[in-house]
Amino acid sequence: MANLELLPINVAGEWRLGGGDVYDSLYPATGEPIARLRAASLADVEEAIQRADHAFRTSGWAQKLPHERAAVLHRVAQLIRENAERLAQQQRLDNGKPISETRALVASAAGTFQFFAAACETLEETITPSRGAFVTMSVHEPMGVVAAITPWNSPIASEAQKLAPALAAGNAVVVKPAEVTPLMALELAKLCEEAGVPRGIVSVLPGKGSVIGDAITKHPLVKRVSFTGGTTTGKHIAHIAADKMMPVSLELGGKSPTMVLEDADLDHAVAGVLYGIFSSSGESCIAGSRLFVARSIYDEFLTRLTEGAAALRVGDPASERTQMGPLITARHREGIERYVELGVSEGGRIRTGGVRPHGAGFDNGYFYTPTILEGLGNQARVTQEEIFGPVLVAMPFDTEEALIEQANDSIYALAAGVWSRDFKRAWRLGRAVQAGTVWVNTYKQFSVSTPFGGWRDSGLGREKGREGIFQYMEQKSMYWGT
Ligand code: NAD
Repeated sequence: MANLELLPINVAGEWRLGGGDVYDSLYPATGEPIARLRAASLADVEEAIQRADHAFRTSGWAQKLPHERAAVLHRVAQLIRENAERLAQQQRLDNGKPISETRALVASAAGTFQFFAAACETLEETITPSRGAFVTMSVHEPMGVVAAITPWNSPIASEAQKLAPALAAGNAVVVKPAEVTPLMALELAKLCEEAGVPRGIVSVLPGKGSVIGDAITKHPLVKRVSFTGGTTTGKHIAHIAADKMMPVSLELGGKSPTMVLEDADLDHAVAGVLYGIFSSSGESCIAGSRLFVARSIYDEFLTRLTEGAAALRVGDPASERTQMGPLITARHREGIERYVELGVSEGGRIRTGGVRPHGAGFDNGYFYTPTILEGLGNQARVTQEEIFGPVLVAMPFDTEEALIEQANDSIYALAAGVWSRDFKRAWRLGRAVQAGTVWVNTYKQFSVSTPFGGWRDSGLGREKGREGIFQYMEQKSMYWGT
């Protein structure tokens, strides 16, 4: 084992070694350990939540005026910016994304804190005119201890997306990062502390989801869980939430359709489709993984798309030129390889990719080539199941009706893309496709002011947007007699 110092976790403001198992966080590009920590134990979970509840009641965080909490959150944003390069490099090591992507994620985390600081300042209560011998007021209260459970694919962005609004609302927050990417949540907790969030209001408890995440979710003092991760885990959490009568938001999986019409700007569409599926190595809930192309342009489009995919620069995430890094773990890569084999056994043809790259720099990392499969229908398992990797299934379509029927024929409904120069058709398709987010002539663009979430098995609830703060608050109506 490499000689790494054990990293402390954060138990309601106390930085100490967890009581659980020791495990290493590996750099996916080389398989080398980059950090070692002792995970949280069940006793740490109990202590953190009890102390977080105490801090919620006694630290004064919930009672601060909105603009006072906003000032602290603005400082968190500022500290993220001051530490941006260090955080981007650390996130690169933690999950192997190319440095250009991790820099963008860090910038988005700072923007999220800034946005919710501003949203916090605008928190105001509404007074409705009298409808009798009274006036009514609708006020919002923080909930207490809330939990944020996050996946490994964009740690700093998903953690900021939950921490910032939950803190803005005045809660104490317990973060459970993914096992394989614990570092960014720990860094954010340090910056929150430095910015002036009171001790005990933020905890970070790394560890196994089925043990630590489960215990956090079931804890009676946890009043809300905001979860991002797989649909199976999300359904499990929803069952626990139902038993506790606890509100929950679930940002889950996807199998998003991208639709290229015959009048699309093809240069633009080729670049957008490639980015939509292969950025982040396809390890993205919103990856455009089902491609529908008008039959009249299918051959030309696929030829150009295949050339583009084969030319993508796969390699060292530290290089500014790299467009696609490795996959998160060796096991995840094996799962993706099995899916590609399944696609071939279902009658699919590999247009490009489908192998591990060879040569210097690829020996020990979990690299895989950008892969395009065709010859399959929308009912094939590889077309229906979330692969969460760089695998695109391409299909031709004949009519708009058939296109919409197939695009919507999925258990998921997270995102969709439409490529067309015809505004009216794009509008029609954008309205007809069932998805939480629709991109027209662009893909994977985000704004923190725009709500995000999925329909059906892609989730429940919305994050981001000014309203995002209210998911971490309870609403109360007050009647005043006159
Ligand atoms: P996962 O469901 O395995 O794990 C997500 C988190 O939940 C981790 O922190 C994990 O430790 C924890 N967890 C696991 N079992 C748990 C349990 N029983 N109780 C409580 N917590 C538990 O998902 P993953 O493999 O880390 O992430 C990939 C999935 O996340 C994909 O399906 C992807 O589509 C989805 N995702 C969705 C979004 C979105 O916004 N919709 C964003 C990113 C990723």
